[in-house]
Amino acid sequence: PGERGRYTRVVLKLSGEVFGGGRVGVDPDVVQAIAREIAEAIRQTGTQVAIVVGGGNFFRGAELKNRGMEQARGDYMGMLGTVMNCLALQDFLEKQGVDTRVQTAITMAQVAEPYIPRKAIRHLEKGRVVIFGAGAGMPYFTTDTTAAQRALEIGAEVVLMAKQGVDGIYDADPKSNPDAVRFDTMTHRELLNRGLKVADSTAVSLCMDNGMPIVVFGLFDGNIARAVSGAKIGTLVSR
Ligand code: UDP
Repeated sequence: PGERGRYTRVVLKLSGEVFGGGRVGVDPDVVQAIAREIAEAIRQTGTQVAIVVGGGNFFRGAELKNRGMEQARGDYMGMLGTVMNCLALQDFLEKQGVDTRVQTAITMAQVAEPYIPRKAIRHLEKGRVVIFGAGAGMPYFTTDTTAAQRALEIGAEVVLMAKQGVDGIYDADPKSNPDAVRFDTMTHRELLNRGLKVADSTAVSLCMDNGMPIVVFGLFDGNIARAVSGAKIGTLVSR
């Protein structure tokens, strides 16, 4: 599956920054647009979709550290921020008629289920979208790394990284470098060696060590459906 037939089960990584529409907090219009794309992708393909949501629109531990906070405490704030994004996405997905469950790595029973991998798989098999919140529950980690880990644990075939403002991996920053060239494919090793800031190195090396492919592509314009159906889109990082 993939490369390029339809995937059976995927993990979709959405960065928190998108959810804020460029500001702190959640922009409901943006989340609604993302939910529509996800719902459409599921309708078209029937692929099982799990989602890891970032939290950069609220807090990043590293930024709080720069402003004098202890990193681990800032990281917990970052993880809590991801949960608000999960709830917003859940709301708009349900409005699209998609059944969802949120599972969090930090227990908050009134709000979401705890992360239980086997239960997550059952939800997916029943056609529910599972949204993973609170990252990995561990400071010093990122939601990119969480996406890689969850994909491995629940048996997904690929990590789909939907990005805003960029449609794949380039050999230089395309915003500041008009000659930057986009890769159609590359290896994890190449991505690490080039030091490109697409995903953090922990996430990429976890995928590399376990043979988990990553597709980096531009969010919106129906691209989630294309990525889920295994179409050639963005950059495929694989062995
Ligand atoms: N975070 C963490 N452990 C995790 C996931 C996230 O400590 O397993 C914290 C970290 O401070 C991070 C913040 O949560 O900066 C928001 O997550 P991330 O930066 O990955 O979100 P994104 O960049 O995708 O919006």
